[in-house]
Amino acid sequence: MGKLFRTVFLVDLLQGLWVTFRNQNPKFIYTEQYPAERPKVAERYRGAPRLNIKPDNGETLCIACNLCALACPETLIVVGSERNEATRRKELTEFTYDTSRCMFCGLCEDACPVDALELTQDFEMASYTREGAIWDRQMLEEGPKPTQYRN
Ligand code: SF4
Ligand code: SF4
Repeated sequence: MGKLFRTVFLVDLLQGLWVTFRNQNPKFIYTEQYPAERPKVAERYRGAPRLNIKPDNGETLCIACNLCALACPETLIVVGSERNEATRRKELTEFTYDTSRCMFCGLCEDACPVDALELTQDFEMASYTREGAIWDRQMLEEGPKPTQYRN
């Protein structure tokens, strides 16, 4: 009898609809409307790499010591340098970073003695090609430029 009653009066269906209706309150909505709404990432999040420059003259902070490349367990960083005969210092000529192989462990960042290499809070690093995931010095200094969508 009970089963017949539930079937005739669609009790199970109505119970299911009631659960759905109860959760229509906006405070139960957890979906982020990305990319219109951008998520807040944790303060210590390790994302896109950046090669820092001096803000006053735009010169790189990197001293081409190669410690980041040696610290990387994936050996994905390549640092190119040449000796300046006038100053007798090594100068950075190229810097490549293969983001497709990076596990964002931060060992390279920790190894850098002059805080030149930094893993930032930027997380939009997608690329249509594998080559696009290999960042050169210019891209590392400029940083990613994701499209900003608005509501
Ligand atoms: S974060 Fe880790 S895996 Fe990525 S480049 Fe640095 S040391 Fe290598
Ligand atoms: S450890 Fe720092 S200073 Fe040395 S090569 Fe890497 S980014 Fe440049």
